[in-house]
Amino acid sequence: MRQRPLLLTPGPLTTAPETRAALGRDWGSRDKAFTAMTARVRKSVLDIAHAGADHTCILLQGSGTFAVESAIGTLLPRDGHLMVLVNGAYGQRMIRLTERMGRRVSSLSWPEDQAIEAEKVNQTLAKDPSITHVAAVYCETTSGLLNPIGEIAEVVASRGRRLFIDAMSAFGALPLSAREVPFDAIMASSNKCIEGVPGVGLVVARVSSLAASEGNAHSVSLDLHDQWRGLEKNGQWRFTPPTQVLAAFDAALSAHAQEGGVMGRGGRYRENCRRLVMGMRALGFHTFLPDSLQAPIIVTFHSPRDPAFAFETLYDALSAAGFIIYPGKLTEAETFRMGCIGQVHPEDIDEAVAAVGRVIQEMGVASCSP
Ligand SMILES: *Cc1c(COP(=O)(O)O)cnc(C)c1O
Repeated sequence: MRQRPLLLTPGPLTTAPETRAALGRDWGSRDKAFTAMTARVRKSVLDIAHAGADHTCILLQGSGTFAVESAIGTLLPRDGHLMVLVNGAYGQRMIRLTERMGRRVSSLSWPEDQAIEAEKVNQTLAKDPSITHVAAVYCETTSGLLNPIGEIAEVVASRGRRLFIDAMSAFGALPLSAREVPFDAIMASSNKCIEGVPGVGLVVARVSSLAASEGNAHSVSLDLHDQWRGLEKNGQWRFTPPTQVLAAFDAALSAHAQEGGVMGRGGRYRENCRRLVMGMRALGFHTFLPDSLQAPIIVTFHSPRDPAFAFETLYDALSAAGFIIYPGKLTEAETFRMGCIGQVHPEDIDEAVAAVGRVIQEMGVASCSP
């Protein structure tokens, strides 16, 4: 019997038994073994990003949003101006948290089913010299859309501005190389494509920018510069680290490498996504995004228009069968989401789709068209 429940969500995700087993011992946070583990995790994260001596990895207690808020609050100078590129809820969240810390922020927006257009970013940067930094989401988990992060980064760099990348739902599965993509910070977390348990946020930051950021932060606990100085000084975390969570993250990073790193993991997710989309289409469902914009991370489906369909009923019946799906997060269309990430294998996807087919039939849904 495969692992159930299976989380077909954007995270936290289904984890491997080996990863959960790593939670099963205690660690002294000032002990050499724990300090060595912290160093090993930081190095593995840098390797995944193809980052060399120009970059450093800072680990932070908390969920992914803590890492985003910490990176922006520390690396965006007090008199900086951040332009956020928005085509979903996670772009909106970056606007909200930057406003909250009292920094200057503006935005450039697209509909939730359209990718960010690098040329529009280029034109806006040309017109407004006050913009110092740009922020973009790599995979917009709201819809599952893949933004052209390489093109965006190229334009931002050619205009001499700095880039923050929310790579939360992409890091470890979709290519993002510091050798090819110029950025000041990538933000991600332990519990998405690395398949750790929740509790650690991470930032891969440009050392020169971080070194110049002392005193920028609006918060002590979210001061990325201070956290970095602490880690560099003695290898220790400033405040109580999530010790067991880091041990699970360490185990998850080993499993990631064993699967073949970004290529291997991304390959499994692509196959999951392909089977999910194919299977759901065979049942008559329609995807929200065209295939050309779909990232192999999470898929948004239109809810069927048939009055016999009810999301709650589908959710509860699938949950009883061991499959946890996710409601939609779009501002307009009626949708629901199914994830392709975590310890989920193509055969699991086939079983989940078969379960959807059974439930739809039990509900008496004649057509799955939106
Ligand atoms: C998951 C996610 C986040 C962070 O969410 P948390 O709930 O704080 O972990 C941020 N951005 C994107 C694109 C995400 O998918």
